[in-house]
Amino acid sequence: MIQLIRGFKDILPGETALWQKIEETAKGLFEDFGYSEIRLPILEQTELFARSIGENTDIVEKEMYTFPDGRRGLITLRPEATASAVRSYIQHKMYGKDPVQKLYTVGPMFRRERPQKGRYRQFYQIDAEVFGIESPHIDAQIIFMLVSLFKRLDVSDVNVHLNSLGCPCCRPKYKEALIALIGKAEGELCSDCARRKDKNPLRVLDCKVPACREAVANAPSILEYLCADCDKHFTVVKSALEKQGVAYKIDSNLVRGLDYYTRTIFEIQTTSLGAQSAVAGGGRYDGLIEALGGPSQPAIGFAIGFDRLVEIMAQSSPDLSRKLDLFIIAVGEKAKDLGYEWGCELALSGVLSDMDMGDRSLKSLMKRADKLKAANVLIVGDRELEEGAVTLRNMGSRDQVSIPLDGVVEGILKALPQRD
Ligand code: AMP
Repeated sequence: MIQLIRGFKDILPGETALWQKIEETAKGLFEDFGYSEIRLPILEQTELFARSIGENTDIVEKEMYTFPDGRRGLITLRPEATASAVRSYIQHKMYGKDPVQKLYTVGPMFRRERPQKGRYRQFYQIDAEVFGIESPHIDAQIIFMLVSLFKRLDVSDVNVHLNSLGCPCCRPKYKEALIALIGKAEGELCSDCARRKDKNPLRVLDCKVPACREAVANAPSILEYLCADCDKHFTVVKSALEKQGVAYKIDSNLVRGLDYYTRTIFEIQTTSLGAQSAVAGGGRYDGLIEALGGPSQPAIGFAIGFDRLVEIMAQSSPDLSRKLDLFIIAVGEKAKDLGYEWGCELALSGVLSDMDMGDRSLKSLMKRADKLKAANVLIVGDRELEEGAVTLRNMGSRDQVSIPLDGVVEGILKALPQRD
């Protein structure tokens, strides 16, 4: 039997209702905050990710699905959506119409990571990006919007971790200090950190290997190195969040795995998922639009790990799958012909019905209605056809009504309880 590829998964019919609920809730909320949907391709030129995410990152060094595509050179299955959104903003000169663009997108991402619970090679993200706004209030607002989504979905086990990575003005000084400190433990670092320590020393701060943790145990906080502008920006973000009652934890070891971040970065963590505690993350990336050939415009965004959010919610969500409104028990050829037509008409009016087309007895059809947990059954056989009326029975209360064949679909619609 051919099985799916390790790290990939099927989202089965019983599971999709929760995915739909989350997606609809996110879209509704984001649109109320002024975001518009953008749909982006899954394949991009490899260079887009190498230049934006950074050559010295886990993603670009070892996790991308990259392959040659004839004369176009190398192409890559997107590992994240921000780079594509920026490419699109530049390519379509969206900034010409209005430099401020608030966008969201939902879809699959691909990273060749070691699969485990909560970590897949194809996973889904819900992304939001804002281009063209420098004000720290948008940083606060995007975090507020993210936290509000979790609240709206009744996910309470979430903590906001917050940090600032400074800007090209102040970060180099911090990098220098960090490189000097790490240099002392040079021989003990893991191979990734040893290789990257000069170009990307901040990554050592969130490396999980004990020797690397040890090496930076006494590292100064990047927050002590922020320039006056970055410090002021961060102060406004924090005070806006406080005023809105958004609890956060300053986490000066939070660096996130992508090179393009500047100033505010954040992560939403949960204890419900075991080792994979990050359920969303994001931050400011003020230099990226210009670095990819666009105008100098600030930007900020986040990505929610859709699979992880589903996993948290599945632990407590009731069954969201749609219930059968009506099971049509039709016995005899004529009854089945009519039942088939009524079922189609009822579907157009939003009633979910089902019918067994086989030659089964009334008794076995009643059993089937029970098994399907139908809220109502409609009984139609030779006797009903002769008498000119069918019987509608509520399976909960056992109440029955007789509905004339003439105008039967309208009669059923009237008799069924109002649906949402
Ligand atoms: P990132 O793009 O790395 O900032 O990730 C944003 C969010 O996507 C993370 O907080 C995770 O919830 C989720 N995520 C990242 N990588 C994976 C993966 N391999 N499998 C499942 N979810 C992931």
